[in-house]
Amino acid sequence: MSTTTKRSHGSALPRARMLPATGVRDRLDRPMRDLRISVTDRCNFRCVYCMPKEIFGRDYAFLDRNELLSFEEIERISRVAAAHGVRKLRLTGGEPLLRRGIEDLINRLAALRTPGGDPLEIALTTNGSALAVKAAALKEAGLTRVTVSIDSLDDALFQSINDVRFPVSRVLDGIDAAHAAGLGPIKLNMVVKRGVNDGEIVDMAAHFKDTPFSLRFIEYMDVGTSNGWSLDEVVPSTEIVERIGEIFPLDPVAPTVTGEVAKRWRYRDGGGEIGVISSVTNAFCGTCNRARISTEGKLFTCLFATEGHDLRGLLRSGASDDELAAAMASIWGARDDRYSEIRSSLTPGLREARPRIEMSYIGG
Ligand code: SAM
Repeated sequence: MSTTTKRSHGSALPRARMLPATGVRDRLDRPMRDLRISVTDRCNFRCVYCMPKEIFGRDYAFLDRNELLSFEEIERISRVAAAHGVRKLRLTGGEPLLRRGIEDLINRLAALRTPGGDPLEIALTTNGSALAVKAAALKEAGLTRVTVSIDSLDDALFQSINDVRFPVSRVLDGIDAAHAAGLGPIKLNMVVKRGVNDGEIVDMAAHFKDTPFSLRFIEYMDVGTSNGWSLDEVVPSTEIVERIGEIFPLDPVAPTVTGEVAKRWRYRDGGGEIGVISSVTNAFCGTCNRARISTEGKLFTCLFATEGHDLRGLLRSGASDDELAAAMASIWGARDDRYSEIRSSLTPGLREARPRIEMSYIGG
């Protein structure tokens, strides 16, 4: 039976073929539910903790176009992932809105279905710089919602963090545009680094209280090797909740979804909620159901993994969907990563010896 689906841009294309459900589980019995896809290794920001200019400068060798997964390749991997149990796709990077034609990719992904026939949730994590211009087109293409990174409301501090003099007002405009376009519920991510922006915690909470936006505070993590991470720079989530709770009393909210990374807290006066992501002080590996695809098509089973599995090579050597599905199932089936849980037992010497991947390469 041949079916077609009408794309919002007008062209009628074959509906993506659905594959039979497999429901793969890893060695710790964790399903694959969430696929994070890095669509570019480039970013227009040079956040000092993520893509510092000293490393990602003019001479930095970003990937060539033909090294990136094509939209067709991303669509195929996502279709197989849906058969394996994935319910949510998250586009990230680099800065995903820099990938030319991203709306076309979203349009293709929006046509995919779970084995039960439901659409996948399609989310995107962005620095917000292009949202004011692109929000409506992203929604039209089929994007479900966005998460926007915003580390400070103080313009001087914000610009010193992004290191490209990008004003925070334009990110705030982008958040409003995304809200107006219906790309909600919108989550806002603030990475908290002690001595840099921890003085902003309460101001950020106050600014986004009583708005439709859910602000999440993320502990600064030891990803990659270019950010010179040290534990002293981490502000534990418990301290963040304490600091906010002293001004605006908070009550814990029970998790609604298995594998939810943020612990949620609700303002007692009804002013909405915040989330804290305790990647360092309270690891959540036990429920981690996230797989990650790097820009050039490597499947990573952990944000802190040292090596990925090359799916692009498989795709470009003519593998069928069944072969791709078998490869992904066997990689997931062998998964036993729980890096964050064992982080504390790693000696500094061992930690330095691991060639960890950069956040800008694999996405958040
Ligand atoms: N460019 C997009 C953005 O800014 O959201 C997507 C990619 S960015 C790598 C994804 C998220 O990772 C951002 O929220 C960023 O702040 C966060 N991030 C980068 N390095 C981090 C670190 N060391 N610890 C915690 N979060 C980090």
